[in-house]
Amino acid sequence: MTRYIFITGGVASSLGKGLAAASLGALLQSRGYSVRLRKLDPYLNVDPGTMNPDQHGEVFVTDDSAETDLDLGHYERFTGVPARRSDNTTTGRIYQQILRQERKGEFKGGTVQVIPHVTDAIKAFVKSDTEGVDFLLVEIGGTVGDIEGLPFFEAIRQLNNEMPRLSSIFVHLTLVPFILSAGELKTKPTQHSVKELRSIGIQPDILLCRCDRTIPEAERNKIALFCNVQKSAIIQALDAPSIYEVPLSYHAQGLDHEVLRAFGITEAREPNLTKWYNISKALSSAEGEVTIAIVGKYALRDAYKSLNEALVHGGLANSTRIKLNWVDAETLEQDKQRFHLKRSNAIIVPGAFGERGAEGKISAIKFAREHGVPYLGICYGMQMACIEVARNLAGISDASSMEFGFTEEPVIGLMKEWGCESKLERRDIVGELGGTMRLGSYTAILSKDSRISSIYGSTLISERHRHRYEVNMAYREKLENVGLKISGVSLDGQLPEIIEYAKHPWFIGVQFHPELKSRPFDPHPLFSSFIAAAIRHSHGYLSNNK
Ligand code: GLN
Repeated sequence: MTRYIFITGGVASSLGKGLAAASLGALLQSRGYSVRLRKLDPYLNVDPGTMNPDQHGEVFVTDDSAETDLDLGHYERFTGVPARRSDNTTTGRIYQQILRQERKGEFKGGTVQVIPHVTDAIKAFVKSDTEGVDFLLVEIGGTVGDIEGLPFFEAIRQLNNEMPRLSSIFVHLTLVPFILSAGELKTKPTQHSVKELRSIGIQPDILLCRCDRTIPEAERNKIALFCNVQKSAIIQALDAPSIYEVPLSYHAQGLDHEVLRAFGITEAREPNLTKWYNISKALSSAEGEVTIAIVGKYALRDAYKSLNEALVHGGLANSTRIKLNWVDAETLEQDKQRFHLKRSNAIIVPGAFGERGAEGKISAIKFAREHGVPYLGICYGMQMACIEVARNLAGISDASSMEFGFTEEPVIGLMKEWGCESKLERRDIVGELGGTMRLGSYTAILSKDSRISSIYGSTLISERHRHRYEVNMAYREKLENVGLKISGVSLDGQLPEIIEYAKHPWFIGVQFHPELKSRPFDPHPLFSSFIAAAIRHSHGYLSNNK
């Protein structure tokens, strides 16, 4: 039997609902239960794929090619359970499905309404694809009181009512702010938030109270009394030095114990938290620091969420702290001294869409290549590396990407235009039909004697993709003649997956997004190797500058 945990938020957004859900998932897992985590997003977009990263943050891609909310990345990183298409939906997608049915006449002329049609569709989504799952954690995006969230809250209220007793619970995350002038922690926002929740028929079983200091006994009593929640179920969620300390911190506050108690599970299995203690130890015992420049164009740090985390994991693998040097690609176009790059031990050009910032990125890649600075190009970063080498080493001065408009030298091309239809069909055998983006997991074959195959310790890998353009194989010979080898290709041998420049300490570009599969307890080999190269570079830099 699958048990359901509905996680809602109140008072303010950005309190860390996704992290709370991910941490609770990890804690239940540590007690031997199988978990899945799911996110319901009340916005009207059909999926986050077309949303601006500067507004919405990273688009997290699943193995089965869904473009999802970045919280799914937290879920995966904390539990190691690969997210699926069935783990994220939005109001837009639910309505799209209902309106399609309506147009086909499937409602047989009946009136189509929010209750029951929209709520039924939400319930069906929540209950789908849960085979073998002990606990399904369902996070509702936004905060209680949002108009657009109402059908979701109504759906989980109904689900709780329809299911047998003790098979679902509500966990609500709120804020208990400290008011400086009064010198006190205030419980009123929490009281109001719970009042709002109860007015739509939901009584929380557990409250997670975000606060920057310990909640005194008197305030806890007050919250318990006014919110109708047992005192032991008021869990304080103190700020943690690292997100990977959050599971242990929640455990210390008794969250997993309380959750099991709320389900009436008294003979709970003992938790095995060794993995998390090890991460916590590794975080605090890290020595030294390397600075990694990320040459991007999105101002919102969440746009690079998984990348950021994968670098932290690479740091953990090397017992080193990571300092990020965010470099705006457009600023770099003016920075002739390369001042922003000189301070860094390694350079990354991450994924991106559109032409803005391309020239700055290409100049950063040139700097990395010429100065022996470790370079990792991810997707767009691999494509720009090919353009840089084509222009500056292979003498193709007009080398460009078809993403930026018509070009005589499409080193980066659109598959449809330089490939044939059968190529597209071949792609669809392993992927999903439709769309022009190559999305989800694909297998790549690595050359035996390449740096990349020694990093992975394998010649067959599977990584996640999200891109429309490809390195144009017509330029392979010209690029390889000047030392830029294509050291990994798709299964059918048609699409370049990896490039590496051998005459360099560490210069690799990948067409996929390795950051999406890195975990704190299982750092991705590319990031471990990249950080190791950054450390070597920092030592060389120090000795060169003595
Ligand atoms: N814009 C490029 C493409 O569509 C790269 C995408 C990416 O970096 N994810 O191919």
